[in-house]
Amino acid sequence: MKTDYGKLSWEEVRDADKDRVVILNVSATEDHGPHMPLDTDTVLGMAVANGVASKAPAEVLIMPPISYGFNEHHKDFPGVIWIQPETLIAFVTDVTKSLAHHGFRRILLLNSHGSNHPVLDLAARKTVIETGIICVSASYWNLCADKINAVRKSEIGGIAHAGEFEAAMYKHLHPDLVHLEKAVDQNLHNPDSKFFNLDLALGGGKAMLMRWWSEVTPDGTMGDPTLADAETGKAFLEAAIDETTELVREIRRLPLLQRKDHH
Ligand SMILES: [Zn+2]
Repeated sequence: MKTDYGKLSWEEVRDADKDRVVILNVSATEDHGPHMPLDTDTVLGMAVANGVASKAPAEVLIMPPISYGFNEHHKDFPGVIWIQPETLIAFVTDVTKSLAHHGFRRILLLNSHGSNHPVLDLAARKTVIETGIICVSASYWNLCADKINAVRKSEIGGIAHAGEFEAAMYKHLHPDLVHLEKAVDQNLHNPDSKFFNLDLALGGGKAMLMRWWSEVTPDGTMGDPTLADAETGKAFLEAAIDETTELVREIRRLPLLQRKDHH
């Protein structure tokens, strides 16, 4: 069974089960320390999406990814391609409105880049308002935070950007492209802070400040990649795939509700 949206013919789209959950990964092209490639967020996000497709092929369709995101605060590092949040919301909702036009009614915006989180939340809300279909947004690390914390080696602050989590998974997928000999522990978590915490799995900061990336990290790393290993990376990725598959199944069960205008 085909799971890649791009491999379908138009007749296959016409005849497709419109309750399959269409997964759109939105990521970024940006610095990930000296030890990892610019495409890290896309490689990891699509590994999760394609892993879900392997586990539940009849239940999903995987869109070609949007490999650019909201990350202008990274642009002091060479290679970063940034998209304005307004542009990204408009672009993503053009994709979701196209899908709704073709009859699809369940979409998952699967985020794999931190600063896209609020942008995709808004894009999903706008899709619901403008089309009436179900559109969910989720950042994949939030789905599996408990499982990440069960196997992680780093302390709080070790999993943020190009840290243990991303480095371990990329190493599992493409060991030749992760250069841990260049990696440095840059755990920037402040234990004295009551409100700020950027750890992806032990986070939940009550307040948010996103500074210029070059103000807070000398080489683009935030976290501890030196503890990354491929075996833990495999466990991280399997946790993300398992939890995202469960989310997909829950999205498929969600009832389609009717509005009622009370004027
Ligand atoms: Zn990343």
